[in-house]
Amino acid sequence: MTDLTQLTVKSTLALLKNKQVSSLELTRAYLDRIENLEPQVQAFITRTPELAIQQAKAADEERAQGNLHGKALLGLPVAVKDVLALQNVRCTCGSRILEDFIPPYTATSVQRLLDAGVVVLGKTNTDEFAMGSSTENSAYQTTHNPWDLERVPGGSSGGSAAAVAARLAPVAMGTDTGGSVRQPASLCGVTGLKPTYGRVSRYGLVAYGSSLDSVGLLAQTAEDISLMINYMAGFDPLDATSADLPLSPIDLPQEANFQGKRIGVPKEYFIEGIQPEVEEQVRTAITHMESLGAEVIPVSLPHTEYALPVYYLIAPAEASANLARYDGIRFGYTAEAENLLENYKNSRGTAFGAEVKRRIMLGTYALSAGYYDAYYGQAQKVRTLIKRDFETVFEQVDVIATPVAPNTAFKIGQLADDPLAMYLEDVFTLPINLAGIPGLAFPVGFDHKGLPVGMQLLGPHFGENLLLEMAHAYQLSTDWHMRVPTGI
Ligand code: GLN
Repeated sequence: MTDLTQLTVKSTLALLKNKQVSSLELTRAYLDRIENLEPQVQAFITRTPELAIQQAKAADEERAQGNLHGKALLGLPVAVKDVLALQNVRCTCGSRILEDFIPPYTATSVQRLLDAGVVVLGKTNTDEFAMGSSTENSAYQTTHNPWDLERVPGGSSGGSAAAVAARLAPVAMGTDTGGSVRQPASLCGVTGLKPTYGRVSRYGLVAYGSSLDSVGLLAQTAEDISLMINYMAGFDPLDATSADLPLSPIDLPQEANFQGKRIGVPKEYFIEGIQPEVEEQVRTAITHMESLGAEVIPVSLPHTEYALPVYYLIAPAEASANLARYDGIRFGYTAEAENLLENYKNSRGTAFGAEVKRRIMLGTYALSAGYYDAYYGQAQKVRTLIKRDFETVFEQVDVIATPVAPNTAFKIGQLADDPLAMYLEDVFTLPINLAGIPGLAFPVGFDHKGLPVGMQLLGPHFGENLLLEMAHAYQLSTDWHMRVPTGI
C-alpha cells in the first residue's frame, strides 16, 4: 500500500476522484503522521483534527452523492498559516497578544479553498505577525527544518514550508510580505508561489505591511500550485486592492522545452557574500534551461541595493499603523492595570515580542512629524524606481532568474541576536514585494551539507502563469523537487 502522505496534490486528487481512497482515510493518514513527527518538526501552532475529520467525512458524502458542484479540491487536506483567519479556530499570528483570539469570520483566500472542498489540518507556525525569516520570532515555538532538525525552516511561513517538506500536508497556505513564502520554500526544498499583489484577496489576512502582503501557496511541485491557485485567487469586493482581472487558465507544458523563452539574469543578484554553492546551483539551473532552448540575457536592476533599506522603512511604517489596533482591550491579551494608559503599556509591553517592538519603533519614527519626508516619503519615491527597474527589464525578457536566499538553512540561534544579518536573508526577495510582481521559488539542488538550494523566477505583474509553466518544465526534466528529507 502506498504511503498516502508522500503523494503530490495531483496524485492525491486523482485517487480521490477515482474513489481509490476516501478523504477520511487520507486525512487520518496525515493526522497520524503529524502526531508522530510533530514533536520533532513543530510546524503547527494549532492542530484541528476534529474539524479535519468532520470536513473529510462531509467531503466523502458529497462525493458519494455525486454532487460535486465544481469542487475540484474535494477532500484534499491543507495546512493554513496562522495569520489567516478561519472562523472559530484560534488565530494567534505567532503572538501572545492574540493567544486567545478566535476570529468570527474566514479569510477570503481560505474560504475559496474551502468552497473548492479542502480539509484543514491545522494552523502553521509563523514569526510573530510574519516579521522574521526563521520562525524564531514565534511566541510559541521554533519550527525545525526537516532536512536538518538543528536548522531553521526559514520564515515567516516556516511552519507551512516544514509541513510540506516533512509531508505533514500535501500543500500549505503561506503569506509573503518580503519573502515569507519563497525563502522558507527555498530553505525546505519545496515550491512556493508569491502571486502578484492584488491577485489573491487579503481580506482576513491579519495585516503586516498592507501594500506588500500577498497570500501564496507552498507545495511539492509547480504543477500542484497551478492546480490550486486559481481557486484561491480572483477579485474580492472585501479587499479594495484586489485586482478585478480575469484569471486565465494555466497551460502547463507537456515537455521540458524552453524554446522562445527569454530569461534575464540580473548582475545585482549574484553578489559577494552569497554562499558559493547557492550561486553555482542557480547558475546550473539557468544553463539547464538554456540547453533546452531558453535565451539567457544579462540584465541590470540598478536600484536593487536600495531595496533593503526601503523595505525596512515601508514595512515597519505600515506595521506600526496596523498593529496599533492591539490595544489590550479589543482583542486578545489584556494586562493588569490601574488606568487606561497603563493598560496599553502593560498589554503591549508584555505581549509583543522584541522584534515586533523593534518594528513598531522603527515605523513610528519613520512616520513621525519632521521625519516623514526624509524617511517614509523618500522610501516611497525609491520604491517607484525599484518598480521601474523591473518594468524596464520586462520589456526585454519574459522572466528573471535569481537565487531566493543568499544562504541555505542556518542553525537555530545562529542569527537570532543579529537583526541585520537576519534582514539580509531577504535581500533577493524583498524587491519583488516592493514592485508588487509575482515570484516563484523551487528547488534546484543541494549544498555539501545536504541542504536544499532554491531558485526564484520573477515575472511581470499578473505573469504568475508563465512562472508556473516554466518551473513545471524544469521539474519535468529534473528531480530535485522529488527528494525527501530522510532524517525524520
Ligand atoms: N523577513 C521579512 C520581514 O521580516 C519578510 C517577512 C514576510 O515576508 N512576512 O519583514
